[in-house]
Order: sequence, then C-alpha cells, then structure tokens
Amino acid sequence: MAYNINDACISCGACAAECPVECISAGDDKYVIDADVCIECGACAGVCPVDAPQPE
Ligand code: SF4
Ligand code: SF4
Repeated sequence: MAYNINDACISCGACAAECPVECISAGDDKYVIDADVCIECGACAGVCPVDAPQPE
C-alpha cells in the first residue's frame, strides 16, 4: 500500500515540498511517488489542488 499520483496531476510541485520522507519527484508528465518509501501519511493529498494523490 502506498499513495499513487493519477493523471489529474498538473505538476505544481506542492506535494513534493510537503512529503516528510521526500519520496515524490517530478516525472515526465506528472509527479511520481516512490511506493517503497511512502509511509501513507496523506500529506500530499492534503495539499494537492486537484486531488491527484490517492491511496492504492
Ligand atoms: S502519503 Fe505521505 S509519505 Fe506518501 S507520498 Fe504522500 S506525503 Fe509522501
Ligand atoms: S500537488 Fe497534486 S498537482 Fe501538484 S505536483 Fe503534487 S500531485 Fe501533482
């Protein structure tokens, strides 16, 4: 289980700045979460303007 960023992402970068374990980085067309590092805190979802990070 980890959070995953869906295609709604507009690459604003807000989530990466909030992640306590720094597992979010810019990908080719959206930001991506390293599922092996994510601790499911939900901070990314809390700051995302388009609700792109979702628990999987
Ligand atoms: S749920 Fe928490 S640990 Fe996982 S990517 Fe989002 S901010 Fe980072
Ligand atoms: S906060 Fe939301 S829109 Fe912004 S980079 Fe993260 S997932 Fe994408």
